[in-house]
Amino acid sequence: MTRSQAIDKALEYYSKRRQDAERQQDEREAKAASAIPELRSLLSERAALPLSTLKLAISQPGSASDVAELMRQKGLELNRRIRKALSEAGFPEDYISIKYECENCRDTGYVHGSMPPEMCACFEKRIFRLMNEDRKNGAFGACFEDFDENAIPDKVLAGERIPQNTTQRQLTLRARDVCRAYCDRYPENQSHGFIIHGNAGLGKTFLLSCMYNELISKGVNAIAVSSYELMERIRSKFFHLENADEAFDELIDADALFIDDLGVEPMMRNTEEFLCMLLNARMDSQKHTVITTNLMQAQLLDRYSERVMSRLADRRYWFHLQLLGDDLRRHGQ
Ligand SMILES: [Zn+2]
Repeated sequence: MTRSQAIDKALEYYSKRRQDAERQQDEREAKAASAIPELRSLLSERAALPLSTLKLAISQPGSASDVAELMRQKGLELNRRIRKALSEAGFPEDYISIKYECENCRDTGYVHGSMPPEMCACFEKRIFRLMNEDRKNGAFGACFEDFDENAIPDKVLAGERIPQNTTQRQLTLRARDVCRAYCDRYPENQSHGFIIHGNAGLGKTFLLSCMYNELISKGVNAIAVSSYELMERIRSKFFHLENADEAFDELIDADALFIDDLGVEPMMRNTEEFLCMLLNARMDSQKHTVITTNLMQAQLLDRYSERVMSRLADRRYWFHLQLLGDDLRRHGQ
């Protein structure tokens, strides 16, 4: 679920919550009114207060502030009488007040009276929860706590780029620590871009998911997409499909964007143009971007144009992590 979808869903929920609160208030009011004969007239007097004050102001011209003060005094007096009547009949004093779950926003999602409208903390939390539930069931649900080093073979590896006497487990733990350090340092990282290179089966998606969830848990506005979904959003934008601009802008605007398995997506006409636009926008604004890919830098160069490559090769922005070892999935552990 995208953030804007979560916002729509949350607004719908809040609107229902307000309706419930109002309905319950009506019910309580009716119950109290049947027990307290004078309650209805007190309530209608209070409801008519603005109009009756206005009439008074016209018939007895005075300063506007005098009228406002008079209306305030009358309102207080009426509230006092209503509370007293409720209390004498054995009801709580605030029995007929509307009861919002959040007084701060009165269940609108926006801080009451704020201008420009400021999102309430309860609303932010709800959006976060909606996106979180969705995410946990999705492809990028893994987090660092799920990391099980015993599932990684502890056998010494051989290979020209592998340091001597190093096991698969040691290599993977080292990679995990680098990924974790990036999250710990966020947003003060020296390189805001992070590319994880490695063959299939070395746990790239797992590490990307861990980083993504780590940042989400810090409250970062982060989005994770597969390269297929990235291309799908680009394609929709190119064909001007519904909500396509919004879905693409979300990738540009996210404080941290995670793209899984760049290089396996089908290439289409104008794909590069949008990919370039996305990378440019993120790099220029120094937002964080994490990418995994099966491709080495030279292979990336074969696949993408000079324009995209010149962005991906910018060492001031990108940090490269190379995963080494055997396909973990082949060990069947
Ligand atoms: Zn609230």
